[in-house]
Amino acid sequence: MSEPALPLSIEAALALGAASIHSDTARLDTELLLCHLLDKPRSYLFTWPEKELTAAQRDEFLVLLERRVAGEPVAHLTGLRDFWTLTLEVSADTLIPRGDTETLVEAALALLPDGPFRVADLGTGTGAIALALASERPNWQVLACDRVEAAAELARRNQARNAIPNVEILTGSWCEPLHGEFEMIVSNPPYIEADDPHLSQGDVRYEPLSALVAGESGLADIRLIAEQCRSRLKPAGWLLLEHGYNQAEAVAQLLAQSGYIDIELIRDLAGQPRVTQARWPG
Ligand code: GLN
Repeated sequence: MSEPALPLSIEAALALGAASIHSDTARLDTELLLCHLLDKPRSYLFTWPEKELTAAQRDEFLVLLERRVAGEPVAHLTGLRDFWTLTLEVSADTLIPRGDTETLVEAALALLPDGPFRVADLGTGTGAIALALASERPNWQVLACDRVEAAAELARRNQARNAIPNVEILTGSWCEPLHGEFEMIVSNPPYIEADDPHLSQGDVRYEPLSALVAGESGLADIRLIAEQCRSRLKPAGWLLLEHGYNQAEAVAQLLAQSGYIDIELIRDLAGQPRVTQARWPG
């Protein structure tokens, strides 16, 4: 007969996770796994630290913990990720939304008030940026597109889950599926270099390379987008691009060469270069 498994309290589960996961977010990761497992908010963990998991919960926790220790992203284990004020379904078909990308959302909201404006999000993935913008600006008409059909479907499920009506999600590469002109176009495209050592560490190992890596020092897709958007922006329309912390100068240069004006760099909460905004003179 096998030994009865030891009981595990919430507090002990948190300590076990914090000690086992090789990540600087080990404690938070464990909290998110437990909340998912128990279907409770984080406050529950701190209110009932001594509460014991049932045998089934304990077994499931240990499986999730083992997968997390092996490197799987928390968002893939829970199937969900919070972004802006939204909870989004995630899958292995797209990038997992990052807190850094909220910099792009904030910058876009600062440029245009609510009104009957047309805004596009290129390479929308989970739909994170498009849905965050549309939720804050109910009168914007937001078009979001992704080349990967499974991503477009995921974005549509996230639209339904968050009940945001003013977004239309299309399948296609960059500007190709768009129709008409836009007051603003935003994108978080792939921008990592193929030989970046960062690609062999952390969550990126579980994300599609097509959402991360672009040729030409990571700038190939940014260049394509800048070129294509020239015929899609209304006069004085805005283009906002997320990029790597070390790409600000190169992005500003290629935007200037493509004819954009009012080029401005925006830093993320950590003070790193993260987003560049520019205007199409028309
Ligand atoms: N910022 C992400 C990372 O470095 C990459 C996002 C992207 O390529 N668009 O993990």
